[in-house]
Amino acid sequence: MRIDLHTHSTASDGTQPPAEVVASAVEAGLDVVALTDHDTHAGWSQALAAGDRLGVRVVPGVEISCLRGGVSVHLLSYHHDPAHEALTRMLTDSRTSRESRARRMVDRLTPDTGLRWEHVLEHVHGGATIGRPHIADALVAAGVVADRDEAFATLLSGRSRYFVPHSAPDPVDAVRRVRAAGGVPVLAHPAASKRGSCIGDTDIEALVEAGLAGLEVDHRDHSETERAHLREVAGALELFVTGSSDYHGTGKRNRLGENTTDPEVLQRIDAAADRSGRTGTGGTAGDGVAGA
Ligand code: AMP
Ligand code: ZN
Ligand code: FE
Ligand code: FE
Repeated sequence: MRIDLHTHSTASDGTQPPAEVVASAVEAGLDVVALTDHDTHAGWSQALAAGDRLGVRVVPGVEISCLRGGVSVHLLSYHHDPAHEALTRMLTDSRTSRESRARRMVDRLTPDTGLRWEHVLEHVHGGATIGRPHIADALVAAGVVADRDEAFATLLSGRSRYFVPHSAPDPVDAVRRVRAAGGVPVLAHPAASKRGSCIGDTDIEALVEAGLAGLEVDHRDHSETERAHLREVAGALELFVTGSSDYHGTGKRNRLGENTTDPEVLQRIDAAADRSGRTGTGGTAGDGVAGA
């Protein structure tokens, strides 16, 4: 059984619509794929329908943008109630802040590159969560850079003078809201130091206190040393470990199924969601504690 628990579609900054991500998952020989777009559930219904049609299990998820002490933290959630108010309000606020942040980055880029907001919008599917990859696509189309990689290495890097951060919740708050919504919170690529600073082990302990359930350990942005350390942390804190691709279609090199999650861990994720009163797709009605 091959399980990939972290992918993106055009509902955020992936390059394939949700149904195509699921079709590609089948081609890649996966049995289970989670759709985890940034700060949105917009792709869920299309992905779940495609999963039913194509005979692959789709786990509904989201990757929540967070900030702790100025450090970017990504939190995956599986199986939560997409109608839970406190959680959806947090996601809506992030999407709003992401758009004004992207506009400000474009304003800074305009004098030097000629890039304008309309150019960026040409690369954003209706209602998608806007991110730097969309600005990158517009810069590629304008011939300013060759690909998303070059854009991130230069104009769009966190150290660039064109960079603007967006506001985002503290991950402790996000973990609490995910649990309140019946979801299972897993810290995404916790040690991906290539992307910038990472939170430390004490922060992870604070997240566990709030209800964190697992760590994404097998991810291409982690070195072998980082993976070994994270496995120790997970063991000490009784967290499960996942592995996933963080697939973005043609937008990144990450290939579907390049890292996978143990079936026993998926059972734990399903069971943890059950205890919160939800089972996600095809599940029975809640036991009344969802949202508690
Ligand atoms: P943002 O969320 O707007 O700050 O942009 C970060 C997103 O860009 C993350 O989802 C990354 O997966 C993606 N990203 C980071 N580096 C690259 C890269 N070199 N090429 C393509 N996408 C990237
Ligand atoms: Zn992304
Ligand atoms: Fe991420
Ligand atoms: Fe991701």
